[in-house]
Amino acid sequence: MINTIRNINFYNKRVIIRCDLNVPIRGGIILDDTRIVQSLDTIKYVLQTADKVIILSHLGRIKTEEDKNKNSLKVVCDRLSELLNEKVIFCEYNDELQEKVENNKIIMFENTRFFDLDNKKESKNDYELGKYFSSFGDIFINDAFGTCHRENASNVGISKFLPTYLGFLIEEEITMLDKIRNNPVEPFILIMGGAKVTDKIPLIENLIDKVDKLIITGAMAFSFLKVKGYEIGKSLVDEESIDFCTKILNKYDDKIILPLDVYTGLEFSDDTKKELRDVNLIKENEMGLDIGPKTLDEYTEILKSAKTVFWNGPCGAFELENFSSGTMKLCKILSEIDSTVVVGGGDSASAAKKSGYTFTHISTGGGAALEYIEGKMLPGILIGIKENN
Ligand code: AMP
Repeated sequence: MINTIRNINFYNKRVIIRCDLNVPIRGGIILDDTRIVQSLDTIKYVLQTADKVIILSHLGRIKTEEDKNKNSLKVVCDRLSELLNEKVIFCEYNDELQEKVENNKIIMFENTRFFDLDNKKESKNDYELGKYFSSFGDIFINDAFGTCHRENASNVGISKFLPTYLGFLIEEEITMLDKIRNNPVEPFILIMGGAKVTDKIPLIENLIDKVDKLIITGAMAFSFLKVKGYEIGKSLVDEESIDFCTKILNKYDDKIILPLDVYTGLEFSDDTKKELRDVNLIKENEMGLDIGPKTLDEYTEILKSAKTVFWNGPCGAFELENFSSGTMKLCKILSEIDSTVVVGGGDSASAAKKSGYTFTHISTGGGAALEYIEGKMLPGILIGIKENN
């Protein structure tokens, strides 16, 4: 059981909330504020009773002084003020910080990764930094699912010094991802796509015995097709994973669904000549960049009886307009079936959002969602598990 914030009264308490406000920003403009919007429930709930709320988050990666200019949370703080309709006071790490914290009700600290310039103190969970963050509050709430697989000073470090709870966003993620991780309702279909097989091996190994079918799509499929002896031309292959693909194909050939046809190009580009090929007719100078209509028909047939689906990784190079249709059509199929459909984070989450269709759940965490479903207990969740369980 987790320490949820439901029914907790934060009267007279200074509450620190770790959010994941790592939103895409270009030229000072927020391109997608979903992560800020998704953090509102917990923030608003705590604000009803708390004396003070202090918000922490990371943004981007900080390796040089220059990175700091591009990755200040100030613009995120302004957007949060708008969404809350209340002033959120932005605090840099300087002499004014203490006074600002004392005199205001809602405060956002600058990017926690600014401390990474000093021996990676945030990312390496420096003890003193965790203690420093904790000194501003009485209670800590972790609501940043996207960083739960990492031990940082602003999630795991700080929790050592304060009573710790998990916010609504993490609670929702656990509820939804548990539908996949623990006894999924059958038929259970796992769809794995994207480019890197290696990253997804632990998840496949953890779920393969539970799934009715494993659909391998996107560039991943070419590593499997290569093992099966197909000519795959210049298609992407994850060489490191060939042994794994061989092993899993030998043992679970009847469960594994590979593409029947693909759209090829001569290079990874929207301008390249596009051809539809059955997978046994890919030419030496071509690369498969999207799945074709026969493949999508097969997916429709398999998915129509599904009761649980987990999907991670696009069906093709979906960033290229000309090769995005397979991924978008998969979104349509998934939105129309009578099944629990959970979309893993990262690229599949972006594609799912872009499609405009609705799904049971789109995870907010890429790596965190995969590791959770692999069966790992994530450090950022462990800090909010009740001790007597
Ligand atoms: P991953 O991070 O492993 O989930 O891979 C996501 C990436 O895979 C996206 O950037 C896609 O462009 C890429 N991808 C998916 N299918 C293909 C393909 N057939 N050829 C090249 N890249 C692909």
